[in-house]
Amino acid sequence: MISKAAEMTVLLNRLFPDQSARVLEAMSEVQRDVFVDPGWKRMAYTDSSLPIGHGQTISKPATVFRMLSALEPVFGGKLLETGSGSGYLASVASRLFNRVYCVERVLGLVESSRTNLRQTGSGNVVVRYGDGSSGWAEHALFDGILYSAGAPELPVSLAGQLREGGLAGVPVGTKSSQEFIVWRKVEGELERVSSFTCSFVPLIGKEGWNG
Ligand code: SAH
Repeated sequence: MISKAAEMTVLLNRLFPDQSARVLEAMSEVQRDVFVDPGWKRMAYTDSSLPIGHGQTISKPATVFRMLSALEPVFGGKLLETGSGSGYLASVASRLFNRVYCVERVLGLVESSRTNLRQTGSGNVVVRYGDGSSGWAEHALFDGILYSAGAPELPVSLAGQLREGGLAGVPVGTKSSQEFIVWRKVEGELERVSSFTCSFVPLIGKEGWNG
């Protein structure tokens, strides 16, 4: 039988024939089936978003790949992820960044993600329970910031927590459809670098929906 790591490699090479070798390698080291609900494990190596419990979903591998690839210039630094859910993106990121700080607003997911992260050898990740819409000021400045839930507009706290030259990616749009916009901080201002269309669950909190 083909190994799980090989299954992810086959999928990613088909989706992204000429892309970042480092992200592909990190993704092939992490067993995605560990992070999804028991009934969905056989779908873990397809390009689908899948249930992780508590009404939330794990992003498609292609989306995780794009989010992390956009931050390649700041690999090796400190990453903040808001909306860490199952911990899958954080586990892949732990192979690319020195430290990964996560905030998740569903307590059940904070607990299950810590178990998943332990099981996949991601010791440089910490997960905090709470509203991460305003980032995590205590650990700023970050080299990279990723929001894994969609915001109505760019959270105002973000710029102050990103170091000069750092990169941040946030899905911004409506509750059902967003543009994942990547910014770089240049001379204190955020400059737009790139974007792609996406569909994330809503960011609920002070600087998100219902804030
Ligand atoms: N990257 C995750 C995907 C999680 S889906 C993974 O790999 O599994 C988005 C997550 O954002 C959900 O778990 C949701 O509970 C969380 N979320 C939404 N608003 C949030 C907020 N204000 N602070 C922290 N987490 C939030």
